[in-house]
Amino acid sequence: MQGNGPDGGEQKLDEEDEWQLYASAGYASAETVTEVEEAEEIDKEEWFDGDDLEVNGAPIDWDAPPCPAPLGIAHIIKMGTCDYCLHRVAGRRTKARGAEGGREIREDAHARDPGIAKFGAPELCPLCEDLFDDTGNIVSRVIESTKGIEYGTIQFGIHLPKDLVQDEDKTRSRHGAPASRPLKAAFADAIQEQLSKHMPDIEFVKEKPDLMILVDGLTLRIDIDVRPVFLYGRDRKLSREIPQTRWPCRACRGRAQGCESCQGTGLQYPDSVQDLIGEPIRAALQAEDTSFHGMGREDIDVRCLGSGRPFVLEVKNPRLRKADLVELVEAVNDSSSERVEIDQLDWTDRKRIGRIKETRSDKSYTIRFRVDDIPEEETVKEAISGLSGVVLEQDTPKRVSHRRAAKTRKRKVVSISDVIVDGDEVQSTLRCEAGTYIKELIHSDEGRTVPSVSGVLDRECEVLWLDVEEIHAD
Ligand SMILES: [Zn+2]
Ligand SMILES: [Zn+2]
Repeated sequence: MQGNGPDGGEQKLDEEDEWQLYASAGYASAETVTEVEEAEEIDKEEWFDGDDLEVNGAPIDWDAPPCPAPLGIAHIIKMGTCDYCLHRVAGRRTKARGAEGGREIREDAHARDPGIAKFGAPELCPLCEDLFDDTGNIVSRVIESTKGIEYGTIQFGIHLPKDLVQDEDKTRSRHGAPASRPLKAAFADAIQEQLSKHMPDIEFVKEKPDLMILVDGLTLRIDIDVRPVFLYGRDRKLSREIPQTRWPCRACRGRAQGCESCQGTGLQYPDSVQDLIGEPIRAALQAEDTSFHGMGREDIDVRCLGSGRPFVLEVKNPRLRKADLVELVEAVNDSSSERVEIDQLDWTDRKRIGRIKETRSDKSYTIRFRVDDIPEEETVKEAISGLSGVVLEQDTPKRVSHRRAAKTRKRKVVSISDVIVDGDEVQSTLRCEAGTYIKELIHSDEGRTVPSVSGVLDRECEVLWLDVEEIHAD
């Protein structure tokens, strides 16, 4: 018997945390300006007292005023600044944007002071190390790698070498116009601007994108992360033979190739609520995999009826993210062979998982059990009905003790009703607080649950079946 306990709400939402780490690990969002160690760097700069530092063959003139002063612009041209960066830090209004705007500024400066012209085409831009030359390359690879994927929003994360970002920040703060766009943000702007010419309907966002695109400015590697979609629904589990979530094979621990005992599936049970619902949806959205987040769970041999168990299905790496939900519901119900049923699906977001996991709802059950040497019908009914309203003390059941810490829970039996005695079998409905171990309430788990039906009847009881009739979640 694979006891799960009725209460599975203790999983942690570590995937969201992981994603946050992933998204921010070295990939500052395009809007973030790096200020790391800036103060310290400025202190060090004070050691340079003049002409001993050369950039592009020209001494740095620490006395040059910052842009947009003409002398400041002349200075950054002498440093060998590229047209992109010139436009970005000069603080001048131009007709064109980007490199073309920079050329305008350069020509103006040449007209003012022909001497500057000898600085000609820069060798390597000291501000961006010619990063902007790679924009077109990155844009075409983004277009190439997103073919066949459905999305409406993109967020860029840009990774640049730390020293480049720091040096750029130093030079820009000293010589650039106030409020010049920092390198990362400007690079993201340049990519997005070119990209919009190819994808006019795409929106660039700063959170919750459909696609997160991570660009490494050093290696020019791009990683496309297709963010998952989430569906909320309630499922009825009509089979006593399937677990709620995928259950790895005990023999091989679910390794990819599986083993003999699981016939190569890696699964202890070939079907689960997760896959009966998730697989048709995964196929429809051309996704990679699913995660199933239920409001608690029941044992394999327990059905869940009524309006069903609330769940969120997370669909990972979907190539499609728009679908007719009525068709998805039909696809699930058609393929589940009446083992699982859903009535409705709604789009939701990751936050819903947390809400589902935190919700503590009463549940109503129907249970049937056999009583050894059963007493008189009236005695049985009276004793069992007497448990209505009591607070149970339940030590962690023996069947789950290998997975759960030993502790004593207090759970209320809200009501017991409809006690029917049929030979040596008893059937009854009951409503209990979330997290009550129902089978243990009947057979007492060798005295670990007090009081219990077995205890008040002073007889051995054996549970025959159990159904969740309703999860009072709304
Ligand atoms: Zn540059
Ligand atoms: Zn196996």
